[in-house]
Amino acid sequence: MIRFKNGRVLDMNGSAEAEEKEVWVQDGKIAFVGLPSDQMIKSAVFEREYDLEGNLIMPSFKNAHTHSAMTFLRSYADDLPLQDWLFKQVFPMEAKLTGEDVYWFSKLAVLEYLTSGITASFDMYFELDDYFRANTECGFRTVMCGAISGDSSAVKRLEENYRRFNGISPLVTYRLGFHAEYTADYELMEGVAELAEKYKAPVSVHNSETQKEVAECIQKYGKTPAELFEALGIYNYGGAGFHCVHFSDNDMEIFKKRGVWAVTCPGSNSKLASGIAPICRMREKGVNIAVGTDGPASNNCLDMFREMFLMTALQKIDRADASACPADFVLNAAVKGSALAMGLDDCTELSEGSQADLIVIDLSQPNMQPENNIVKNLVYSGSKQNVKLTMCAGKVLYENGKFNVGEDPKRIYARCGELLRELKSRP
Ligand SMILES: [Zn+2]
Repeated sequence: MIRFKNGRVLDMNGSAEAEEKEVWVQDGKIAFVGLPSDQMIKSAVFEREYDLEGNLIMPSFKNAHTHSAMTFLRSYADDLPLQDWLFKQVFPMEAKLTGEDVYWFSKLAVLEYLTSGITASFDMYFELDDYFRANTECGFRTVMCGAISGDSSAVKRLEENYRRFNGISPLVTYRLGFHAEYTADYELMEGVAELAEKYKAPVSVHNSETQKEVAECIQKYGKTPAELFEALGIYNYGGAGFHCVHFSDNDMEIFKKRGVWAVTCPGSNSKLASGIAPICRMREKGVNIAVGTDGPASNNCLDMFREMFLMTALQKIDRADASACPADFVLNAAVKGSALAMGLDDCTELSEGSQADLIVIDLSQPNMQPENNIVKNLVYSGSKQNVKLTMCAGKVLYENGKFNVGEDPKRIYARCGELLRELKSRP
């Protein structure tokens, strides 16, 4: 049993107040949250007791949209128009990637997630065996999202991956998905819809990230991407739409009706000038909202604190209303919404039986003082520098700036540097 004591608990189980309680963890799960009796303490066997010294313990953040291995393109091709960035820089470099590259660059991303209090990623990429190894070796939780594109011949691979990676590890699940409408032909999308029906499974896909994407989809099919996916039956069992920046009221109706999650990526949308997602409007319409960083080539960092601040700040600007998108809603989306969008239903809160995916926030730093309101401090002035400890599945993977991922971070940085030099010189 691991005991966290002398701290304050934001359990996110109904109350937005941090309360003086303890959290006990056993076999990867939360065993107890509350104030223990002397008898309970006496009869428990603690392998480790953390004195929180008044700091905050809460459920971790989940990153509901990313492409982890794209760390290799961080700060490689910035300050370019989106189409040039994607087609002239990103796609040609990606075409040269090997499994070993994906392995090391995914590990680099895991380190960064941990420093930001993120314990799970909803990741869309390729070289899945290497990606799988990188994450599980670190002890990091991931939900792999189908990333197929092109023609319908790719659907077979999607089904193989779906069957292969679900059940392979307690830290890993796999969800049906494809890259986007604009990189898939009609038969591929029909094939994905058939799989959704066969497995009664949700489908997750990029959706309405740019104006161009939506305009071209309407030109081609007479429908927006959300309308097209609805017509095909792709969303019959829910799923997620990544970005949802250029979204009509009818798109929102579809998401609401099908229980599809809108995953907002405000950092990436800002940097690529894609636009501001209509989060407030979606919320009013009853659409569920989750938060993702998107990949490190477009963001460029994997930091949930920055996403939370941008999410609320952009809504306030967009609506010319400082009360738009309040802090408790934002925190909820980044913790619970994101977990639910990924199907991690037991990672949303600190309660008995939940997964022990949690973080400790250092309140004894200037940006977290005074404590008028801890939730507002987290969203408006909080930063990854406040993350003292990150635990995933009951294992401490990051604590006081040190990693416990089975590998020296210096070796990960060095390998990434070597591989990048090699990659650039590959024909
Ligand atoms: Zn993306």
